[in-house]
Amino acid sequence: MSKILVFGHQNPDTDAIASAIGFSYLAKQKFNLNTEAVSLGQSNEETKYALAFFNIELPRVIKSAASEGVDTVILTDHNEFQQSISDINELNIWGVVDHHRIANFTTANPLFFRSEPVGSSSSIVARMFKENQVEIPKEIAGILISAIISDTLLFKSPTTHKTDQTIAQSLAKIAKIDLKTYGLSLLKAGINLTSKSEKELINLDAKTFLLNEKSVRVAQVNTVDINEVLTRQEILEKAMKIENEQNGYSDFILMITDILNSNSEILVAGENNDKIEAAFDVKLKNNHAFLKGVVSRKKQIIPQLTI
Ligand code: MN
Ligand code: MN
Repeated sequence: MSKILVFGHQNPDTDAIASAIGFSYLAKQKFNLNTEAVSLGQSNEETKYALAFFNIELPRVIKSAASEGVDTVILTDHNEFQQSISDINELNIWGVVDHHRIANFTTANPLFFRSEPVGSSSSIVARMFKENQVEIPKEIAGILISAIISDTLLFKSPTTHKTDQTIAQSLAKIAKIDLKTYGLSLLKAGINLTSKSEKELINLDAKTFLLNEKSVRVAQVNTVDINEVLTRQEILEKAMKIENEQNGYSDFILMITDILNSNSEILVAGENNDKIEAAFDVKLKNNHAFLKGVVSRKKQIIPQLTI
């Protein structure tokens, strides 16, 4: 049987990697598919920490399916084509497991499509193991729970669904971890920002969205000290402007998210500062503004923007 690649979005976060690993395993067991979980970019520090903790190898990074001799793929943790593999338009999509808005997505053939407005794609994958009565191996439970912690910021994000905690607790038993202790060390592993250049920071967790036919880049960095990141504002802004010019983005929005207090500062570079001010009912001062209680790009940034 020909191989099917399973992957999450570009600039993968822990959920992109974990949901691909988890669903790839499930698809082998349940649907007898010849799947391989791969990645569309280098794993971040948080993901590396989780993979090492549960003794899972880093997935291979691939650039196109054609170069792998593969014509069928499974998408997890995304569906928008501009966030996917470079040759997505040429490929057959076997299925999707996701928890984002559906946009810029069409297929030639019928497919398996599972989307739920829950905290993490990995929550859906964990639920699918149960539905299909497939036992979850310890290391898979570990990586899935890591993704739920990461996406929900340990259940503090408004994207958290009430089922996420229940699922996480049952996964914690299988993975043999204390949810809170492990969760905090996982989140901390992802916030070592000082070792990163400004260009790296703005690309760590960045996604492109088509909003009113404009291409808008929205990046997010997690921190415990917003001001520490803002001391680098000048160089961050320069790096954002370069990204805009090189990629045709009308605007670049950087969310600097305080994971302890659940707020974000946005730093913006682009053509539509007035529209950004209107969208969030704030006044930008020196290109940045504080958004109280905002931590979720998908729920508290993207739907508000119509640039
Ligand atoms: Mn993700
Ligand atoms: Mn996710």
